[in-house]
Amino acid sequence: TQSLDGAKMVARFFLQLGDYGSAIQFLVMSKCNNEAFTLAQQHNKMEIYADIIGSENTTNEDYQSIALYFEGEKKHFQAGKFFLLCSQYARALKHFLKSPSTEDNMAIEMAIETVGQAKDEALTNQLIDYLMGESDGMPKDAKYLFRLYMALKQYREAARTAIIIAREEQSAGNYRNAHDVLFSMYSELKTQKIKIPSEMATNLMILHSYILVKTHVKRGDHMKGARMLIRVANNISKFPSHIVPILTSTVIECHRAGLKNSAFSFAAMLMRPEYRNKIDLKYKKKIEAMVRRPDTSEAEEPTTPCPYCEFLLPECELLCPGCKNNLPYCIATGRHMVKNDWTACPNCDFPALHSEFKNMLQSENICPMCSERVSIVHLKKIADCTPYLNPEEMEQ
Ligand SMILES: [Zn+2]
Ligand SMILES: [Zn+2]
Repeated sequence: TQSLDGAKMVARFFLQLGDYGSAIQFLVMSKCNNEAFTLAQQHNKMEIYADIIGSENTTNEDYQSIALYFEGEKKHFQAGKFFLLCSQYARALKHFLKSPSTEDNMAIEMAIETVGQAKDEALTNQLIDYLMGESDGMPKDAKYLFRLYMALKQYREAARTAIIIAREEQSAGNYRNAHDVLFSMYSELKTQKIKIPSEMATNLMILHSYILVKTHVKRGDHMKGARMLIRVANNISKFPSHIVPILTSTVIECHRAGLKNSAFSFAAMLMRPEYRNKIDLKYKKKIEAMVRRPDTSEAEEPTTPCPYCEFLLPECELLCPGCKNNLPYCIATGRHMVKNDWTACPNCDFPALHSEFKNMLQSENICPMCSERVSIVHLKKIADCTPYLNPEEMEQ
């Protein structure tokens, strides 16, 4: 037809200028996909064609032609991508698994996406074998198994995998990774309205307390740092590769904050034969002196009311002696939440004491829980905190 000839003429004009992108774009806009495809093939510009076509109304045949082209060129990742776009899952998976590994492991992510869409048991098992290293003797990072279960909406298996991954990260001393694995799992389960295993919630709380120590100490707030270290030190078995350094920091921060009795009791713990010789020489004499001449003066921890029953309990205590509830904690300080000072991260919706989170955001600009940027202006004081209380009831 006339318009087809016209389009070809304009395309030829761009070709003479060496502008393949515009030539291909023009042909696609004029609905001459076959001509555009041939042109891309002749000039080895399939990536450009693929890019352009991705944003237009595209048929499965178009995607398949591109996929076949990349298959012929042994560009496995690209082939997989376009087989996935035309819902040929088995072929897509085959190419993603053949794709050479890259730093960001995009091919594995895409393989997971493929299996998630395909909902086909044989393909799922094929990918699980690959992730476990059955096919090539190289087990892949466990986080992919977790993602796979999430993509398949098998949340219980995903939760179990997440707990195992976090435990491994934790015992290797990768506390930030362990924290982030549990956080993403926790948020996912919350979104799916699935009950959060209490082991997961407790571990996340302890890891979060550990992460807050650094923030508090960096901001020169030794009292808050000491309080979080006391919580971590009381759960020291969860930090097996850093027992002595953590106990040492606890002694030092407690001493700095004037919590002499706590400093003394953790110093005494460090005197156990299995720890004593591992203490950093810089602090050893000082800690030994603390144990020899104990100073047990310590001000009582201030109390604030329980958000459930108004019982006054120490601000870092998370189990209310009045009503036996586990209390939600503030992601900025680690203290238990208080009804009339309530806010939540605009991104992850974890609760925080309004005054404290605001204060922290003066010097930090990210949320310590989800690591997203948060600006003070987006913090809203929450008058009714009931949605944040009794989450167990909501999930059942
Ligand atoms: Zn209470
Ligand atoms: Zn957040």
